[in-house]
Amino acid sequence: MSDLKNISLFNPSPEHKALREMIADFVKKELEPQALEFDKKEQFNLELFRKLGDLGLLGLLAQEEELGGSNMDLTAMLIAHEELSSSDPGFCLAYLAHSVLCVYNIYRNANEDQKKLLLPGLCSGKKIGAMAMSEPDCGTDALAMKTQAVKKGDKYILNGRKMWITNGCIDDNKQACDYVLVYAKTGDKISSFIVEKSFKGFSVGQKIGDKLGMRASNTAELVFDNCETPSSHLVGKEGDSLIHMMRNLEVERLALASMSLGIAKRCLEVMNRYSLERKSFKKSIRSFGQIQKYLAKSYAEYQAIRSYVYNTARQIQAEPSKNHRLDCDGVKLLAGELGKMIADRAIQVLGGYGYVGEYAVERLWRDAKLLEIGGGTNEALEKNMTKELESLIH
Ligand SMILES: Cc1cc2nc3c(=O)[nH]c(=O)nc-3n(C[C@H](O)[C@H](O)[C@H](O)COP(=O)(O)OP(=O)(O)OC[C@H]3O[C@@H](n4cnc5c(N)ncnc54)[C@H](O)[C@@H]3O)c2cc1C
Repeated sequence: MSDLKNISLFNPSPEHKALREMIADFVKKELEPQALEFDKKEQFNLELFRKLGDLGLLGLLAQEEELGGSNMDLTAMLIAHEELSSSDPGFCLAYLAHSVLCVYNIYRNANEDQKKLLLPGLCSGKKIGAMAMSEPDCGTDALAMKTQAVKKGDKYILNGRKMWITNGCIDDNKQACDYVLVYAKTGDKISSFIVEKSFKGFSVGQKIGDKLGMRASNTAELVFDNCETPSSHLVGKEGDSLIHMMRNLEVERLALASMSLGIAKRCLEVMNRYSLERKSFKKSIRSFGQIQKYLAKSYAEYQAIRSYVYNTARQIQAEPSKNHRLDCDGVKLLAGELGKMIADRAIQVLGGYGYVGEYAVERLWRDAKLLEIGGGTNEALEKNMTKELESLIH
């Protein structure tokens, strides 16, 4: 897949090309050697994660360079997620929760004082961030959230529970991350708040263990029990955050789709090489038509989703004020399904060796499954897309 390094839709400028090469180097030297171990231990590699700050990746999309932002574009975001996910999607999911769900949301919606307070630590990696929308009783139906925020003097009092929060805790001792961007109801509207780990009434309910995949990222239940949050930590105006949530979901879906791309790329590389080396009946298995079908279809599908994902970012960059929901949902739906299918084929091509950890494809297959659920299930995306498509009928 060496063409990825050329200037193209996927590396539209020398800066994008250099970014991809820098991340690929980090992946080879630092990420890949630890990926299987942290998956097995089901632990988040916090020390390595902080190094992403030194590489300028944690505030990739934040424009405020004086506050640590790297002022790069959505294409750069795709490059980062594709490269990291080609090695360790669990680690990459933690990266997404921090840099897209938390930092990007703050960059887009927070006021200047909040940015000054939050961005330097988050962009450098000194502080870890998360975003909490889902709850024990609702995920897809996010508007049914029960977490409430009630204004009392110069504070909001938050009550409720959030579920499945990536980076919600940073270790096995239920230590909370530093900042959580929390969505809560104020009356019947949705507002968002930055909750700091020291706030009274905020705690980690549980670190959710025994996950199928994405085991190198921590997933937590968070508890808000009369959590006292200063009014200065309300993001935007009270009741205005539904639009923040919808906009952030669009970018999240694009990033999740590029994670599927990373998985597809790696699985393709593994099965391509293995099928040459592995002999059966005195021939390379790639000489068998059924194996050729796995290789050829996977390559074509990878190229198709890669073009769709990067082209969607290009469209958004060209017309940022336009509604791009249809394609943000479309890329996640298609890349999620095909990424998992390509990982599945890679296991099949490797036979028994595909079923164990050494060749990575079984881990990637487990990780790929989350990309059909998190950030919007396939079913939710299909429903949304059908609605958006209806608006195109003249
Ligand atoms: C590892 C992991 C990390 C996560 N990280 C985060 C995070 O950082 N922050 C966060 O807020 N959330 C996070 N989530 C939550 C994730 O976004 C939700 O799991 C997802 O949105 C689905 O919600 P749910 O699990 O409540 O499923 P439900 O919404 O209960 O859905 C269950 C099933 O019903 C289907 N369904 C629901 N409604 C409809 C409908 N109207 N029509 C057809 N089918 C429907 C769904 O598609 C699904 O198949 C994470 C989840 C996981 C597993």
